[in-house]
Amino acid sequence: MIFYEISEEDKELIKLALSKLETNYDREKYNHTVGAAVRCKNGRIYSGVDCNGIHGSCAEYITIGIAVSAGERDFDTIVAVHRDHPNKLISPCGNCRQMLIEYCPDIKVILNDNENNVVKVGIKDLLPFACL
Ligand SMILES: [Zn+2]
Repeated sequence: MIFYEISEEDKELIKLALSKLETNYDREKYNHTVGAAVRCKNGRIYSGVDCNGIHGSCAEYITIGIAVSAGERDFDTIVAVHRDHPNKLISPCGNCRQMLIEYCPDIKVILNDNENNVVKVGIKDLLPFACL
């Protein structure tokens, strides 16, 4: 597994995801509890929050959907955040890992390792033997 350096841009990406979460967090219904931000290879950044419902959608899904709807196709790095998680980072669920590897097989993900160190790794390392 390759570990990429956490850059200043990555720290800004985390801050933006947290800002999007704080702006939209629904304290009454405990809704919109996860924020995400993605940086495209062209440097543009998009962010979003999860939407709950019978078939709710994770923040990563919403964020990639926003970026794709804006015409983006090449993604560099994504991060998802939650207020109550170590380092405020949340690991993408299995469904999001599959979506990410299909949309952007070279994307890197910022998350905690098993000792809660902040790391950045490629999506292929988060979903070995993926169905593509
Ligand atoms: Zn997910």
